[in-house]
Amino acid sequence: LMGYVGFANLPNQVHRRSVRKGFQFTVMVVGESGLGKSTLVNTLFATPLYPAKELPPPSAEPAKTVSIESISADIEESDVRLRLTVVDTPGFGDYVNNDSSWKPILDNIEARFDAYLDQENRVNRSKMVDNRVHACLYFIQPTGHTLKPIDIEFMRRLHTRVNLIPIIAKADTMTDEEVTQFKARVLADIRYHNIQIFQAPTYEKEDEETLAENEEIASRIPFAVVGSTTIIKTPDGRTVRGRAYPWGVIEVDNEEHCDFVKLRQMLIRTNMEELREHTNLFLYENWRTDKLIAMGV
Ligand code: GDP
Ligand code: MG
Repeated sequence: LMGYVGFANLPNQVHRRSVRKGFQFTVMVVGESGLGKSTLVNTLFATPLYPAKELPPPSAEPAKTVSIESISADIEESDVRLRLTVVDTPGFGDYVNNDSSWKPILDNIEARFDAYLDQENRVNRSKMVDNRVHACLYFIQPTGHTLKPIDIEFMRRLHTRVNLIPIIAKADTMTDEEVTQFKARVLADIRYHNIQIFQAPTYEKEDEETLAENEEIASRIPFAVVGSTTIIKTPDGRTVRGRAYPWGVIEVDNEEHCDFVKLRQMLIRTNMEELREHTNLFLYENWRTDKLIAMGV
């Protein structure tokens, strides 16, 4: 079902160069337990999964509260190899005192920067492994109210270190109208707290089709997603991945039912290169500068 996603067709030259060698893309999922993180990861892959062989970055402290688990899949398309890794963070928000739930996650993201820096400092840089987190999907409970303190705290602590992509979990538990209203509330909260979420740059040189795709994606943020790997028969006889209700079937892969397809398209096709570039040229560079300053260099 991952099927043909189109990452091999990106026009960008930098991209072409990097894909010839094969490249790595890492997405992290964060959010309170029960919001459907594991389900979404499985929905996203829908190809046989295996535990990632990825070792913890050398300087990573063992997490005391939140654990970090990753799975990878090698996807090949038109001779282009992509290693997609999704890092899950079970345990976030599960403790009596969640004041620093964000800390082990920030530590993990920075440990990955450290591991990359170590490689850059080596004489032989021909075999660089990029385990940096290129996007962080933050799951928001579909309350219909406002963001919770834990959401705001996490995003405020992390937005300078990772591309944040807010997600409304279990969108099938809300009506379309509720989703629209809740999206507006969430965006207003994010703006109010000066949280920087990932914004797809819209270059002038880009063709109209890409621009339209970018605008369509941007208009869906925060993505309202539904996850499911269950195959269901619709009343009109189609087989789909979805969730069955007495009133009907919510289809995961139907863009009129939820934003799952748009989210996947953003990650793996339309904005993958921007997410990697922004991580490398901006987030990683800023971290490196902050580190040098902290060291008094
Ligand atoms: P996690 O703790 O965030 O990893 O959440 P899980 O993926 O384990 O899901 C928790 C429960 O929510 C399970 O019973 C899932 O079947 C259910 N679930 C997951 N995604 C969705 C969704 O999009 N909609 C609904 N209604 N339930 C979901
Ligand atoms: Mg889970």
